[in-house]
Amino acid sequence: MSEKILVVEDEPTLVETLEYNLSRQDYEVITAMDGQEALDLARREHPDLVVLDLMLPTIDGIEVCRLLRQEMNVPILMLTARDEEVDKVVGLEVGADDYMTKPFSMRELMARVKALLRRERLIRQELAAGTIDQQILTSGDLTVDLSRREVKRAGEVLNLKPREYELLVFLVRHRGMVLSRQLILERVWGWDYDGGSRTVDVHVHWLRERIEPDPKNPRRIVTVRGVGYRFEG
Ligand code: CA
Repeated sequence: MSEKILVVEDEPTLVETLEYNLSRQDYEVITAMDGQEALDLARREHPDLVVLDLMLPTIDGIEVCRLLRQEMNVPILMLTARDEEVDKVVGLEVGADDYMTKPFSMRELMARVKALLRRERLIRQELAAGTIDQQILTSGDLTVDLSRREVKRAGEVLNLKPREYELLVFLVRHRGMVLSRQLILERVWGWDYDGGSRTVDVHVHWLRERIEPDPKNPRRIVTVRGVGYRFEG
């Protein structure tokens, strides 16, 4: 059975392009042109993935994303116009799984859709097989046990400081995403923290010393020039 993708976008030509390209990859495509229609359709059709534009009539993409997250476990790929950095932060906070800025290449979108669906399939399989423990995050030889607040590397316990631990959990949970220093500060240190983005850099430096095979050439916590960091793995 082909996977069902809900495309939510109010630009008719982009809807058409997305529908055409996704259908060609044998996905079943349903479309909505405003936020309310998107919610109605998602509730009725239970899509396997949602491609969601940010700026929409009736209910905007952020609100649609938030409501979908509360109601169902569906991967969400958000689309936004260039320079909506603020919205990008909000998009991550309300739980979008991935994010693309317009204009994007259709090829890249297809690759991300495929990756999100594959990840979702794996999670479902693991859940069905009972092999997944939601309390444990893993990445390569790293294991983060959320219930015990314990981090292990290659089986060995790392004694991280509380803030290093929080930072690592945040990075691993948002693996593959570009996270700005500002977002990291807000989420790991709290909204009212008075320090600068240097604080983030210092903690990333410490964390790299603990979890990178070669801290001078980090492979896990990658620097994204002028923005922040991305966790790979
Ligand atoms: Ca739009």
